[in-house]
Amino acid sequence: MEQQGNYKAELVGVFGYPVAENPTIVMQEAAFQACQLNWRYLTIEVLPEDLEDAMKGLRAMNMRGINLTIPHKVAVLKYLDQVAPDAALMGAVNTVRRDGKLLIGENTDGKGFLRSLREDAHVDPAGKHVVVLGAGGAARAITVELALAGAGQITVVNRTRARGQELVALLNDRTETNALFVEWDVAYCIPEHTDILVNATSIGLFPNVEAKPEIVYESITKDMIVCDVIPNPPHTPFLQEAEARGARVLDGLGMLVYQGAIGFTMWTGREAPVDVMYQALQNVFS
Ligand code: NDP
Repeated sequence: MEQQGNYKAELVGVFGYPVAENPTIVMQEAAFQACQLNWRYLTIEVLPEDLEDAMKGLRAMNMRGINLTIPHKVAVLKYLDQVAPDAALMGAVNTVRRDGKLLIGENTDGKGFLRSLREDAHVDPAGKHVVVLGAGGAARAITVELALAGAGQITVVNRTRARGQELVALLNDRTETNALFVEWDVAYCIPEHTDILVNATSIGLFPNVEAKPEIVYESITKDMIVCDVIPNPPHTPFLQEAEARGARVLDGLGMLVYQGAIGFTMWTGREAPVDVMYQALQNVFS
């Protein structure tokens, strides 16, 4: 434990609305305990119109940082002193850390995906051809990090044209990758040369556990690595279909744990006990 006679806990947490079902507290508190840190992770309900006051409160109470979830990831930008370049590109912040008096915005979602890709699947995205289903917050974070990591080509497949086109324009204008948009109006056939396929939609998330993205599953080959962002349940029908075609798969639980682990290190300066965090979340989802 930390120095005897020091009863002050360091505070972090999450602001969201709704927020009650956000399980991040479980993995962060497990990590603090494992590292014998007197830190607390608070799950705090903040209405959209109260975000400014909540951010002032965070400064006043000298909190060490905060996670942002729905609906605050974009709105929080105007209350920060600095924003990391990748988060600025995405236009969204999910983690705030302190540097002295400064509040700095980061986005760890895409970084968590990238770390899971590299460390769990042993895949380096540099030069790879990637297909991403979806163009929402998760897809933005993942494609920006893949582009910054040198992905050769990124195809964004999305139902709503404007959202997909906006993301592709951002990737082409602001990164070195070659991005293409495909409107998703019929079952999508995965191009043969694809190395990495990612479901970054919300299809398959609890309670709709039987749902799967509308693609031609026969077009998945054993040479592809197929990834899902859905953490609950992690073994989605999408991944099961990919496994049936001999592809390697990567579930969304790894991404969730790593984005939390990266946040833990940003806040505490300590290496995160990834296995402890993974186990804590797995207990929640099982
Ligand atoms: P958004 O609402 O921002 O985006 C949702 C995306 O899914 C959009 O592209 C939307 O298309 C698409 N979509 C939803 N339903 C359908 C459908 N029936 N058919 C076709 N497309 C569909 O959500 P987020 O990007 O923030 O989150 C997406 C998922 O990622 C969530 O399930 C979340 O749990 C998960 N996630 C996981 C993380 C992890 O660490 N594992 C981290 C962050 C998110 P359209 O634009 O046409 O509406």
